[in-house]
Amino acid sequence: MIFQYSLPTKILFEEGCISKNKQELVSFGRKAFIVTGKSSGKLSGALDDITCVLDELNIKYYIFDKVENNPTLESVDMGGKAAKEFSADFIVGLGGGSPIDAAKGIAVLAANDINPLDLFTNEFNNKPLPIVAIPTTAGTGSEVTPYSVLTRTDLQTKKSFGNIDTFPKLALMDPKYTMSLNRDITVNTAVDAFSHGVESYLNKKSTIMSDIFARQCIVEFAAALPALVKNEMDGSARNRLLYCSMLGGMAISHTGTTIVHAMGYSLTYFRGIPHGKANGLLMKEYFDFNYPACREKIDDILAIMGMKNTGEFGKVMWSLLNDEQTYTDSELEKYTDYAMQQRSVSKNIAEASKEDLYNIYRKSLKA
Ligand code: NAP
Ligand code: FE
Repeated sequence: MIFQYSLPTKILFEEGCISKNKQELVSFGRKAFIVTGKSSGKLSGALDDITCVLDELNIKYYIFDKVENNPTLESVDMGGKAAKEFSADFIVGLGGGSPIDAAKGIAVLAANDINPLDLFTNEFNNKPLPIVAIPTTAGTGSEVTPYSVLTRTDLQTKKSFGNIDTFPKLALMDPKYTMSLNRDITVNTAVDAFSHGVESYLNKKSTIMSDIFARQCIVEFAAALPALVKNEMDGSARNRLLYCSMLGGMAISHTGTTIVHAMGYSLTYFRGIPHGKANGLLMKEYFDFNYPACREKIDDILAIMGMKNTGEFGKVMWSLLNDEQTYTDSELEKYTDYAMQQRSVSKNIAEASKEDLYNIYRKSLKA
């Protein structure tokens, strides 16, 4: 029995979390640099809540609301410069995974005079500014992971960085902020959380500790699935999914992801398919590919979901996600080449070759 476990993020999970715990912010300094997207902060009510509390505490703030979905290195660079100019003491990442991931890059760049490309070396002379994460989606779990996934236009894909210092110091989790998500974003982000649970569970680096988080993430997703299918998301389903997403983040913090994430990135980069949906489209064939290597765990996942086989799983996923796009063989060959370059491929429970990945794409997507 060998394992290590640490989570350097303090998690506060409750409705009204920001105002009830405002004193937590005082120790981070006098100047907050808020990183968010165009609309999520306002729609969710989280931006109002945090600025109100910062005003009360007399903490100055700057709102950087230029983070796009699947944030690019270029906007992180821009944010890093703005945070330096503002002399920020700490960074607040507020929104979905995109702003929270961007906040991690900005926190490093604000504290180090480095080329943004050097983020991917994971070695920085100065510690990043402290990060406070406030999620408004229930999917990435980025509030409890060290990872920052950034779009590299130079490489035509997404790459991640992160080390022990890029874990947020504080995660303020209020399920109320996810109430404003529409049906599609709710589904796509929930499937991302589920894929974190699954890819951590079926991972060469999984341990008995990471399995606790991974398996419970799958349990919570399964319990929320009927509400997702019927599109009847009430407060209790929202609570459950935010918790599910957090558990998935805690699981992948210790194992990383595998081929599903590696393969999904090209569907996002080249076809604009949202991250969680891209993962979900590949998952049935991923289960079939891995089945000979880990029957017990895949049977366990199916049992948790109350499903007889992966065929039934595939039908449910397809009805939730439904991709009408078609893909040529040469496109899928290109996507396979990009996927093979991702480090996460080596962590997949079954050894996966280039041909295996190509076959998973081909069987999952329409010709
Ligand atoms: P997202 O890209 O952050 O947001 C998707 C959309 O939802 C955006 O248009 C956003 O608006 C909107 N939105 C967010 N919260 C909302 C709310 N409460 N109400 C209404 N609209 C809202 O989506 P995401 O799935 O959370 O994050 C995806 C990114 O995270 C990808 O880049 C992915 O690669 C990365 N990721 C990171 C990790 C990790 O460990 N760090 C793990 C998995 C994935 P705005 O335009 O205003 O933002
Ligand atoms: Fe993900």
